[in-house]
Amino acid sequence: MTPTKNAPRQLMRQLHEIMASADDAEKRLNRVVHLVASNMVAEVCSAYFIRGGDILELFATEGLNAEAVHQTRLRVGEGLVGLVASMGTSLNLSDAQSHPKFAYRPETGEEIYKSLMAVPILRAGRVVGVLVVQNKISRHYSEEEEEALQTVAMVLAELVVSGDLITSPDEDDALDKAAITRYSGKVFAEGLAEGVAVMHEPRAEIIQHLSEDYDHQKERLATGFDNLNKQLDEIMSAEDIIHHGEHREILDVYKLFARDKGWRIKIENAIESGLTAEAAVEKIQIENRFRMMKTDDPYLRERLSDLDDLANRLIRHLMGKAGTAAEKTLPDDAIVIAENMGPAELLDYDRDKLQAVILQNGASTSHVAIVARALGVPMIGQVDKGLLDIDEGVRLIVHGLDGEIFVSPPPEILESYRNAIADRAELLASYEGLRDRRAVTKDGVEIDLVVNGGLAIDIEGMHRTGASGVGLFRTEFQFMISETLPRIKPQAEFYKSIIEEARGKPVTFRTLDIGGDKDVSFLKREKEDNPALGWRAIRIALDRPALLRYQLRALITASAGTTLHVMFPMITNVAEFQKARSILDKELERHRINNRAMPSDIKVGTMLEVPSLVWQLDHLLPLVDFISIGSNDLMQFFYAGDRNNPKLNNRYDTIAPPALNMLKFIVEKCDHYNVPLTLCGEIGGKAIGALALIALGFRRLSVAPAAIGPVKMMIRSLDLSMAEPFVEGLLSRSDHSVRAALEDFARANNIKI
Ligand code: PEP
Ligand code: MG
Repeated sequence: MTPTKNAPRQLMRQLHEIMASADDAEKRLNRVVHLVASNMVAEVCSAYFIRGGDILELFATEGLNAEAVHQTRLRVGEGLVGLVASMGTSLNLSDAQSHPKFAYRPETGEEIYKSLMAVPILRAGRVVGVLVVQNKISRHYSEEEEEALQTVAMVLAELVVSGDLITSPDEDDALDKAAITRYSGKVFAEGLAEGVAVMHEPRAEIIQHLSEDYDHQKERLATGFDNLNKQLDEIMSAEDIIHHGEHREILDVYKLFARDKGWRIKIENAIESGLTAEAAVEKIQIENRFRMMKTDDPYLRERLSDLDDLANRLIRHLMGKAGTAAEKTLPDDAIVIAENMGPAELLDYDRDKLQAVILQNGASTSHVAIVARALGVPMIGQVDKGLLDIDEGVRLIVHGLDGEIFVSPPPEILESYRNAIADRAELLASYEGLRDRRAVTKDGVEIDLVVNGGLAIDIEGMHRTGASGVGLFRTEFQFMISETLPRIKPQAEFYKSIIEEARGKPVTFRTLDIGGDKDVSFLKREKEDNPALGWRAIRIALDRPALLRYQLRALITASAGTTLHVMFPMITNVAEFQKARSILDKELERHRINNRAMPSDIKVGTMLEVPSLVWQLDHLLPLVDFISIGSNDLMQFFYAGDRNNPKLNNRYDTIAPPALNMLKFIVEKCDHYNVPLTLCGEIGGKAIGALALIALGFRRLSVAPAAIGPVKMMIRSLDLSMAEPFVEGLLSRSDHSVRAALEDFARANNIKI
């Protein structure tokens, strides 16, 4: 092929003719390899397609021995052709035989060919075959030739999509389907599920690659770009949590790319060469992907991968498939797979059909994970690479207790998981059976169980589990989902709706705990080296008192005629509590002066999350109505171990003498001053943790709604008079953890942990 301006068009025209002909798929393929060989002045052009998962089979050749067709097979990764298939990138070698991977098959007669260029045949981003040209002499194939071969390869993928070329699955395919693939990740929301894979953002298969109606294709492209830009604008302006902080930056970069003239011109040129708009986008995307694979620069890689995602979106717009799977008819047992998603997107799914969600990325502290836990939808995140490549419609098992995902499990595995799912359903039902039972130990000690929440749905969780109230309502969620500072009226309405839905059960509102890992878009903050130790929570509130004043005003308004329970986060010294309290008092006074309906009573407390406050309890306790220990933060500061760093996950235990001694000290102080004490961190949400706490003297625990059942079950099986001296005995040990000792004790005494 000579690189004149019209050469690509000519090739495309001929290719178009062949692909549109009435010939069967095999014949069309033969004609294509013949066309490529003559266009590129190559002695050989061969097409290999993948069968049975990892076998590349020679399907057509111009130049190699004809008998080798359907005989020559190699594994993905084997020889140069296999290498191209495994890497998904092209090879352009003037001396192929000196390449360490070179391996020839005698039946093909290819030993006489010195130079080789091979490109992957990609279907929706996955390698389905390899297209190769070879020459006897040592020859360097130009960049234009490489591009032309890539375009032909792209068009050939149509034969696979149509199902004409590889019709019935052969034995290898059957074997492949039977082979289970297992992925593992982190549990974001517990649960077990079985169902069918559904892609949150489905990849669109291009059905038609070639078109000579250049103007029409350019018009389609223009509309596609308009729709893409509109979609990005919508995403950015929607009142949805995902669009903040880091996500927002990513979307800003997306918008820049989407408006990038260079990208658009390249696509238009590809249309001019004879491709449909979507195929032109894909062609440029393939080139971009090759660049992405070659670069070592992590920043550039990230940007190129953004562009890859954007190109997928553009293709979906062009093919009229822009929405997420939530808009489609879902199977009854959908397991949705996504790279990541925002909480609002999760809420878009039909909850009756959604069995589980798997995220390639994400974080367990992310909002989508919090919402999944509130909804009771099992979620696994940070999963091994390759997950997004699995086929839609395959059967999956999501083991959202130990973070495993099985793809196409064989009957025996399916069976055992179905049993496990049934057992778990029975267990959950038994928790439900405890709904109206008291959380009282065998020896008659009553424990008050309340829930942690932050969404309206958590109030539903409180009623469903029979908890006696909300011990911690995280108000920041409402601020995180808003682009602008929520005004007083909607804030007050929201709090009022929570109080009303709680139907007389007390709700303890925590004032804004933003900063650290909890970002809000309307508050500009400088980047901090240690955000968890930085300008956050009450520190922001006292420096920007308007924010706190407005929130308190909304809470006071919402609590008219009822008791307002309010507490402040991250209080580090007594003076901070006093300042916050005086802001509250001023707001109450203002309310009174304006003759507004007042709360019938006010209980003001503080979170205990900073170790320094433990040593000020003698001064603090006389000033507060209650204390709530935020053990997540308290323990991270106590052990100097970031609560979100997975490397430190199990390094320091909370069921260990130093932590337990500190907690006991707090219990004793609160008892002494007769101040009600709650613990609302994660320790209390696990039965074993709750056991330790109750033995130390805690009588009120605030836990996630899903934890009420297991904790209540443990309490009802507990003889506290035995557990207390046992735990007391653990306090003087020097072990880095006493968890195992406590577990042994529980098992020996039939305590259900
Ligand atoms: C805690 O720190 O334990 C707590 C309950 O607050 P949060 O998890 O919201 O920081
Ligand atoms: Mg906290």
